Amino acid sequence: MKISEIHKKKRPVLSFEIFPPKHGTALQNIDETLAILSELKPDFISVTFGAGGSSNNNRTIELAKKIKQEYNIEPVVHLTCLTYSKAEIDEFSQILLENDLKNVLALRGDRNPDIPVKEDFKHAGELTAYLKSKGDFCVGGACYPECHPESASRVAEMRHLKAKVDAGDEFLLSQLFFENDMFYSFLEDCRIAGIEVPVTPGIMPVINKAQIERMVTLCGASLPERFRKIMNRYENDKEALFDAGMAYAISQIIDLLANDVDGIHLYTMNNPVVARRICEGIRNLV
Ligand code: FAD
Repeated sequence: MKISEIHKKKRPVLSFEIFPPKHGTALQNIDETLAILSELKPDFISVTFGAGGSSNNNRTIELAKKIKQEYNIEPVVHLTCLTYSKAEIDEFSQILLENDLKNVLALRGDRNPDIPVKEDFKHAGELTAYLKSKGDFCVGGACYPECHPESASRVAEMRHLKAKVDAGDEFLLSQLFFENDMFYSFLEDCRIAGIEVPVTPGIMPVINKAQIERMVTLCGASLPERFRKIMNRYENDKEALFDAGMAYAISQIIDLLANDVDGIHLYTMNNPVVARRICEGIRNLV
């Protein structure tokens, strides 16, 4: 089923994000994770895609097929465009259509000095429009409650986001954030800008201080004082940090649900224990 249709039928929509296991690792290794994630009955599972030059990208599609065929859950395939030509995107989209994988998250992808960019696509919106011209895809896009690090201003960012939606994005998944007020203010700006599609907040439960510092450096999300204190207090006690990280994420999600958000997108980092703990905490709320 298309994600746009799921959103029409259900609120909030619960989704998980996973990444394909590293090249050289059997795809079956992710079965244990998928078995637990599927018990939690998400409305869809999205699968990340390499920014380019990665032999792992066919695994994104293989994993999406597995999710659909073996676990009977709707997959969303992430697709990046900065380092691909139209001919390469044609190949990917052909495979997607042949396998009835119609839900795609159209992304530009991060710049990587080791991977040359190609000329065909400069922004995600161009990929959205291109995919819509290629077949009956339901396309979504990424959004950034605290602004994309490359954006000159919030106004410029909102104009580009509106252009992406006008190009065909039917749902938006947000970058992770740790302060819900940032998301509410962003959502208000979206609605003022005339962006009416579902905008789902992305939540990353934290279990490791180094991991979160790396993520935050990459994506520009800010860490509230309350969150920093928890990290500093428990950084050397793995179990305590796990409990505190779960409690923080659950309290964020409960507040988001109380504010009637369109959905919750959980960055699982392929960790089913985390996904289960979060879902147990919100079992009766979604
Ligand atoms: P865009 O929408 O193109 O935006 C990038 C920047 O360009 C922004 O500053 C925007 O304001 C600006 N811009 C957009 N359109 C225009 C225009 N027409 N003119 C001028 N400026 C413009 N990366 C991966 O490699 N693989 C993944 O699987 C992946 N999954 C992700 C999932 C989610 C939910 C999110 C939030 C991010 C994901 N990313 C992934 C990271 C993403 O690729 C990067 O954040 C990347 O830097 C931007 O991608 P985008 O699709 O948001 O780009």
